[in-house]
Amino acid sequence: MDFHSKIYVAGHRGLAGSAIMRKLEEKGYRNLVFLSSKELDLRNKSHTDAFFEKEKPEYVFLAAAKVGGIVANNDYPADFIRDNLLIQTNVIDAAYRNGVKKLLFLGSTCIYPKFAPQPVNESSLLTGSLEPTNEAYAIAKIAGIKMVEAYNRQYGTNYISVLPTNLYGPEDNFDLETSHVLPALLRKFHEAKVNNDPVVEVWGTGEPRREFLYSDDLADAVIYLMNTYEGNQIVNIGVGEDLTIKALAEKVKEIVGYPGEINFNATKPDGTPRKLVDVSKLHSLGWQASISLHEGITKVYDWYLKKLIQQSA
Ligand code: GDP
Repeated sequence: MDFHSKIYVAGHRGLAGSAIMRKLEEKGYRNLVFLSSKELDLRNKSHTDAFFEKEKPEYVFLAAAKVGGIVANNDYPADFIRDNLLIQTNVIDAAYRNGVKKLLFLGSTCIYPKFAPQPVNESSLLTGSLEPTNEAYAIAKIAGIKMVEAYNRQYGTNYISVLPTNLYGPEDNFDLETSHVLPALLRKFHEAKVNNDPVVEVWGTGEPRREFLYSDDLADAVIYLMNTYEGNQIVNIGVGEDLTIKALAEKVKEIVGYPGEINFNATKPDGTPRKLVDVSKLHSLGWQASISLHEGITKVYDWYLKKLIQQSA
């Protein structure tokens, strides 16, 4: 990509897409195209085709997806599989038919088998059964990766797929029913602090281990890979370190400054016991995460507080 290349960020309002937009602007890319899902519903093939025919983007970051936390994925599997298959199929195919030079598809590390050896290497894909709570989402994302591979093989395109680990950052979803753990905990501890609640409920046993990547780091990584990486091999994007949900809860509690207690509700699902990706390939390609979990959570908490002030103004 050069600074004048026409770049389309699909999903630019979301956690990943908004960070990619900010980072592209910061790095000096000037020719960005984007439309919100209200203006362009990527689940609709004719709308997607019309957009690509009109705009003719040269580079596409496919960060549009229907995403959600463990309970949302478990409760609405039909929505997750349908919307994601539609979005990615429409965008990848429109990209091909409109001569996009390069497309980067964002998968997710939840596509790996539930009991894959940890840290999970890229070679674990399709070697075992998936975590049942997010199987529908994972199958859609696996289909996206295979579609990218198939288009490269059959049509000679130059598309790549990357697999970010659990992301967090500004513009995340803070709805307690559908969000991922980190924004949920930030909100729960913040509200408990404000309301002087003595106890905060954390779902599950607190034992599962998760890795968290700040969205600005993800954005830096995908722009780097768009510019330097080619090939059908998927690439994990993570930090290479994980922690228990209990340790995460304690960290969030400390950053928010909540003085009360934590109660683990084991009637809620734990999900996969551990999710840590092997980042040796990413490191060998020349990229490493640089934002620590403490720094990242502190930034998101600042963002969240500012947003609350804006909403109440
Ligand atoms: P996952 O990584 O796909 O399992 O998705 P989540 O981010 O939703 O959940 C990660 C882990 O955090 C699971 O073990 C959850 O049970 C646990 N967890 C603890 N408290 C919460 C909460 O308030 N919301 C969510 N979404 N997960 C929580």
